[in-house]
Amino acid sequence: MLGQMQDRPLLISQLIEFAAENHGDTEIVSRRVEGDIHRYTYRDARHRAKQMAEALVGLGIKAGDRIGTLAWNGYRHFELYYAISGMGAVCHTINPRLFPEQIVYIVNHAEDQILFVDANLLPLIEKLGSQFKSVKHIVAMTDRAHLPAGLNIPNLLVYEELIAGKPGAYQWPEFDEKTASSLCYTSGTTGNPKGVLYSHRSSILHAYGSALPDTLNVSARSVVLPVVPMFHVNAWGLPYSGCMVGAKLVFPGAALDGASLYELYESEKVTHTAGVPTIWLGLLNHMQSKGLKLSTLKYAVVGGSAAPPAMIETFQREFGVEVLHAWGMTEMSPLGTVNNLKHRQLALPADQQLQVRLKQGRAVFGVDMKIVDDKGHDLPRDGKAFGDLLVRGPWIVGRYFRDEGGNPLREGGWFPTGDVATIDPDGFMQITDRSKDVIKSGGEWISSIDLENAAMAHPGVAEAAVIGVFHPKWDERPLMIVVPRPGANLTRETVLDFLKDKIAKWWMPDDVQFVEAIPHTATGKILKTKLREDFKSYKLPTA
Ligand code: AMP
Repeated sequence: MLGQMQDRPLLISQLIEFAAENHGDTEIVSRRVEGDIHRYTYRDARHRAKQMAEALVGLGIKAGDRIGTLAWNGYRHFELYYAISGMGAVCHTINPRLFPEQIVYIVNHAEDQILFVDANLLPLIEKLGSQFKSVKHIVAMTDRAHLPAGLNIPNLLVYEELIAGKPGAYQWPEFDEKTASSLCYTSGTTGNPKGVLYSHRSSILHAYGSALPDTLNVSARSVVLPVVPMFHVNAWGLPYSGCMVGAKLVFPGAALDGASLYELYESEKVTHTAGVPTIWLGLLNHMQSKGLKLSTLKYAVVGGSAAPPAMIETFQREFGVEVLHAWGMTEMSPLGTVNNLKHRQLALPADQQLQVRLKQGRAVFGVDMKIVDDKGHDLPRDGKAFGDLLVRGPWIVGRYFRDEGGNPLREGGWFPTGDVATIDPDGFMQITDRSKDVIKSGGEWISSIDLENAAMAHPGVAEAAVIGVFHPKWDERPLMIVVPRPGANLTRETVLDFLKDKIAKWWMPDDVQFVEAIPHTATGKILKTKLREDFKSYKLPTA
């Protein structure tokens, strides 16, 4: 025997233990949905997470059970991340902005046993409650005094009452690091939302990778405010990486407007923040209109959609904030690339630096990345050739939850991202298009296929296609392109009016354009790349 290292599993409970032992006094500050500011420490968070684990055992929860959360970023949600995963159950974060039918679908698909719900989201659950098949308990994430009045949810449990009086002496169990820890559904694919099941191992490896200096660069000197919700791929892993390095965490609750965020940045001396471009537009507008400056913020991670050049420049020039442009997916835990310049590039003139900064960035160690042509042949990393972007690595999906959609991987274990990109000789990846047929508006997905199907039900519509086009506030908005049936007397208004009771309000196309024919592939599918090309210089009336 030459000797060997210990075979200790990587477990999420170790993160909160580590933070409580080594950064016990470091604060976690939350703007509560109840309205006030709450503050406590990593030591307090561990205690309450253990109390919650004891409560879950008391409710009959066993290893592997799925527990749903419908909640904004706050300390109780943070405690649930650790209580649920720490005891070996699966923390299923649910996006409350999904359509009600989608929420019902994913709760039933995941077979959630308990739903933890923020006080201001309880009315939503009240309406859907009878459709949940597996849910045994609904827990209001508040105390009794803050329960909304007039609710009718039978046997509603209250978070603070569940943990009150529990000893908080829970011993985190040890188990295989490949055990499932958390679950997040993505609607950025065609068909029903699909679940991505993270493991303890993938979450910890992702936390290591995402904290690195050339990634999100968080440390015990950082004050991190994740605007990206904890129901969007675990707030990009920040509740884990923050613990790993002992950063102070600031949770903004449900108030994501520019004024509320600005107030927290200043009062809590925030150094790092992260979110989608739409959020930053709100913040920049607020600060510009009021003539405000930021005194401590150093880094704004911009991801989920492409960071517009003006945003990168405004943050830098007017506010001294460096934009870390990042790209990833729910299927990638989510981080794939982050844009940080190399030493040599610091000497480049400002305009050339901006050209580099516009790219989505370089791969984090752990993420293998390549681009391929239509036949699957590798394309060069010359910054010019573009093709399907494929990834693989220990925090990238292998199969969707319950094998939905079959094997998503290509030969060699490569996951096709549905993004089209270039990669330059320095390793910087830039997204040039999307091969998947979805639209991302303000960080949320809109299914073009569902919109097309809804429009095709109109007797005057021969064919309808929907593409995403640029919008300064929402990044993308849907444009509907319609081929009318001969003799049909269609207008923009009649088409939009027809859609009104068939789709969610925010899915409504911003415009309808009429054409004689829509381009198709050889197999009869709508050729979206050609359509996007045809409407390249089109400008939305709302833009
Ligand atoms: P989601 O799974 O909802 O996080 O969405 C992932 C998808 O969002 C990616 O496959 C891209 O299409 C898009 N996306 C994420 N980050 C960026 C970015 N920085 N620039 C452009 N598109 C992005």
